[in-house]
Amino acid sequence: MNAEIVTAIENMGFIRTGASWAGRVGKYYWRVTDASGNETPIVVSTSLQVPADQNGLQGLLGSLKEEGKIAHFTLEETAAYLFLGPASDGQSVRDLLSRVTESLESMHAANVCERCDETSFVGFYTDGTNAHLLCQKCYQADEARIAEGKRKPNNYVLGYIASLVGALIGSIAWIALGAIGFYASIAGYAIAFCAFKGYGLVDGKKTVVGISLTIFNVVFALFFAEYVGLYISLLKEYPGLEIMTFVLATPALFSDMEFLRAILPSLGLGLLFAVLGTYGIVKNYLLLAKTAAHEKIEKMPV
Ligand SMILES: [Zn+2]
Repeated sequence: MNAEIVTAIENMGFIRTGASWAGRVGKYYWRVTDASGNETPIVVSTSLQVPADQNGLQGLLGSLKEEGKIAHFTLEETAAYLFLGPASDGQSVRDLLSRVTESLESMHAANVCERCDETSFVGFYTDGTNAHLLCQKCYQADEARIAEGKRKPNNYVLGYIASLVGALIGSIAWIALGAIGFYASIAGYAIAFCAFKGYGLVDGKKTVVGISLTIFNVVFALFFAEYVGLYISLLKEYPGLEIMTFVLATPALFSDMEFLRAILPSLGLGLLFAVLGTYGIVKNYLLLAKTAAHEKIEKMPV
């Protein structure tokens, strides 16, 4: 979107959030989105309710397209998207908005909340990255949910235990696949998935500390699974090998260079698959934690 259009809509009171500008023309709220690189680099959209007859809106947008004011449009039950071509400038965007506003008024159209079908007291609220067209009730519900999340203390001990239990349950997949001589990143994913599931089941909050504890448990469960796998492979060679004998022999085994050299390739391969399997899920949760820490919703002055 060129600087001239940005200046034009900012002069109309539009405020930027992310790749969009949110603002109001007359009594209607609009979002102007920068879709640079597309054939239609500007998207003008809003959520609308047109009483009785949606055909009026369809007709209006159809004639705007015929006149070349918009490249094309998409009309959903309560949302309208107007796509503007690259030749648009500040003046044409301004003209389009005021013309559509006039027609909507004559159709008695109203903005509608993006989350419910409320049309009164609808306005733009921002979470810092996006502008949401909400009614007061939905805004208050969001505000209460965020405040409740921040107020509630986290029980890290319970979260730690739950994610450890989850990780150990997930490691069963790792041990079972390892026993038939098979490594797969999906088994690493199973461990991470079960660990985070366990943490979530006890309402563990998505904080960096909580997620770090869970990652610690995932790594622990991986080593545990590899250790059990080692016992199973030795059991194949020495049937009747008791667990206690194996455990007691562990320090001696792991200080034997030849033994270490023999197991390192499979341990390394296993850990590689573990990283591949867990990377995505861990990254997602860390992102969620980052967002949750700064979660907010506030009214935009438009
Ligand atoms: Zn609502």
